[in-house]
Amino acid sequence: MRLLVTGGAGYVGSVVAAQLVEAGHEVTVLDDLSTGHQDAVPEGARFVQKSITEAHSVLDGMDAVLHFAAKSLVGESVAKPGLYWSNNLGGTLALLDAMRDKGVGRIVFSSTAATYGEPERSPIEEGDPTRPTNPYGASKLAVDTALTAFARVRGLGAVSLRYFNVAGAHGRYRERHAVETHLIPNVLKVATGERESVSVFGTDYPTPDGTCVRDYIHVSDLARAHLLALEAIVQGEHRIYNLGSGTGFSVQEVISVCREVTGHEIPAVVGDRRPGDPAVLVASSAKIQSELGWKAERAALREIVSDAWAALSANA
Ligand code: UDP
Repeated sequence: MRLLVTGGAGYVGSVVAAQLVEAGHEVTVLDDLSTGHQDAVPEGARFVQKSITEAHSVLDGMDAVLHFAAKSLVGESVAKPGLYWSNNLGGTLALLDAMRDKGVGRIVFSSTAATYGEPERSPIEEGDPTRPTNPYGASKLAVDTALTAFARVRGLGAVSLRYFNVAGAHGRYRERHAVETHLIPNVLKVATGERESVSVFGTDYPTPDGTCVRDYIHVSDLARAHLLALEAIVQGEHRIYNLGSGTGFSVQEVISVCREVTGHEIPAVVGDRRPGDPAVLVASSAKIQSELGWKAERAALREIVSDAWAALSANA
């Protein structure tokens, strides 16, 4: 297929673009490099440095779009909500209009567990209430809502994948954000000497060891789900699937595994809770498993951390 990957110079987008090229698709990456890295665009993909609001020029002859380009920092979204609404919702609406003009009727959308907010039960299923607690989650939920409407009225075929905590590396493709907020890369930065210690944001949560529990999914497993989603698109339908490994690990457990993998003592300093962090976020991925046959193959936290560490060490 001829495919447009927006945000294909970013962490998840670059891994999906690499898997699409490996699978024999003709891939164009559209990325404005505001947070992505040009050297993350896989060999064999065409690269166009433009914003998603300028997608018209690259949509001719495309069979589908995989849409990753977005602002994705929760804290920043609270400080600058306008940036999130204009980029994530406004930018996506512009992309969807350009797709309609060019007759491109299929999209896989990068959604998030942040659309659910503070869950009432665990694991979270797709039909559970969506009450985002920050503008990032709200802007992604708004896109999901628009996709449902456009499927009905325009015949768009769409699949939204709601990611839980993506981690690990796919060969050389790894997480490298200028502003790093995520737990695993921050813990590993202590082992490389970039940071002196890691902060543990709260130890008074109602969890077994008092620290927050999250569902970590290997980026290679996550990326593979996009290829299945692409094949499963049906015109006039919008499907939503959660993507996680189905097992929760606490912040303390993550730090312990990072210590084992790196052999570094990794000092941890207990700090205050980070505002807006739910105590437990674990996905039920039963729906994508039964409908698309997807299953996490690298669910072991040790493997996720080992792959992240290997990619980081190779680039150090
Ligand atoms: N966390 C932490 N120290 C850090 C970064 C994150 O204790 O330096 C905690 C954070 O409060 C949350 C968990 O680790 O409970 C995962 O956070 P992350 O930002 O990786 O992902 P999120 O679940 O917020 O999407």
